[in-house]
Amino acid sequence: MSFIPRSALDVIMDITIEWGLSSTPPGTRASCSLGEGTKVSAQLKPEVLDECFFAVGPLHSYPASETNGKFGMYWLENPPFDAPALGQRMESLLPEMTAFFRDDDPTYRIFIRRNIQKCVSSRGLHRGFVFAWTKVVPRDEDEIEEFLIHETIHNWPRLGFSISGPTQEELADGWFNEGIAEYYSLILPYRFGIWSEEEFIRRMNIRISGYYTNPDREVKNRDVQEKFWKGGHVNRIPYQRGFMCFMKLAYQLKKAGGRSLDELILEMVGLRRQEKPHGITIWLAMLEVELGGPDSVTEYHSMSNAVPIILPSDCLRVTEDLEWSLRREDQEEFYLGFPEDCLRDKPAVVRNLDPESRAAAAGVRNGDLITPQYSFFVIAERWERTFDMIVRRSGLDSSEGFKVLSWSPRSRKKVESYQFIQE
Ligand SMILES: [Zn+2]
Repeated sequence: MSFIPRSALDVIMDITIEWGLSSTPPGTRASCSLGEGTKVSAQLKPEVLDECFFAVGPLHSYPASETNGKFGMYWLENPPFDAPALGQRMESLLPEMTAFFRDDDPTYRIFIRRNIQKCVSSRGLHRGFVFAWTKVVPRDEDEIEEFLIHETIHNWPRLGFSISGPTQEELADGWFNEGIAEYYSLILPYRFGIWSEEEFIRRMNIRISGYYTNPDREVKNRDVQEKFWKGGHVNRIPYQRGFMCFMKLAYQLKKAGGRSLDELILEMVGLRRQEKPHGITIWLAMLEVELGGPDSVTEYHSMSNAVPIILPSDCLRVTEDLEWSLRREDQEEFYLGFPEDCLRDKPAVVRNLDPESRAAAAGVRNGDLITPQYSFFVIAERWERTFDMIVRRSGLDSSEGFKVLSWSPRSRKKVESYQFIQE
């Protein structure tokens, strides 16, 4: 953000943001990450201004009338999901999360904007977060809530760099940062009573299924960055593998009887807050002390090298005192039925359709023109969800030539997977 000139001094200063709204239409409101109103003051380093979001106009908000408290959520055009309900849930969760991570300031503001294009990009900065919705692909309320909680967690645990400079792992630190955000975005809402036990297990099983049925699950950590934006499902690996890694560590640490995963993570958060080194060597050294030996380092390298992580069947019994067991339940791998590259081609046209696939059985044909109204980002992780695609095809009865096709985007071959079941 460069529209506010700021001091280059690296010291805490009295900062005031004032808006001149006298010439704006009635009902115009102004807000930023630091607060709502025509005059907002805070004591911060000036560099924080680069990390603030600003919104002005006929804003809707949660809470509805004014947001002078610690929490606010803002939007201009009403989104297709229940924004006030989402705001209410986030408002109740945030003070608990802040307290858990021993942060003394629960201030947090969320900004929602509509994107005309098919893009649902998002960004988290200083005690604030912005995300987009689009009419091109509707977003699932379930998914938005999980995603917001995940992004909020990023405020606290984050892997830093080692004293001697960043290692390769720290530069490709996705597994730690995304994994711990995935872990706590499930565990904390359950512990805080936001989700019931059944709801927690349902979401847990989705995560586990996503990990095992990802067709790119054999890509190693060091290759993830290079392949991250090249399509496929590599971009989910840091999230899924990191999540499984922390699930296993929580179990191992609890079994070892020393400090828990929570305690170790809080120490890492504390080091980050004090601007002390909190890189991978620090983290591995902590694990070595707690788990009594070099095995934790060996396991870490196995995880990095894409060796499948198998959780013990009594994992949740030990870590969260829950009467659920993990059982092997093989599941079908994600599989569209034609190369996913077709979706990114311009124009996007179905080619090399697998005649044995469920897509073919659902009526997809080579040569179908694929319209942008599809999304498999969420569906790929949600076992048993169908994939919807609108195609354009000449010779169809309707004047526009559009056809809605729907199928289970799964291979008919099952791969090793696990799910929690109640016994
Ligand atoms: Zn993230």
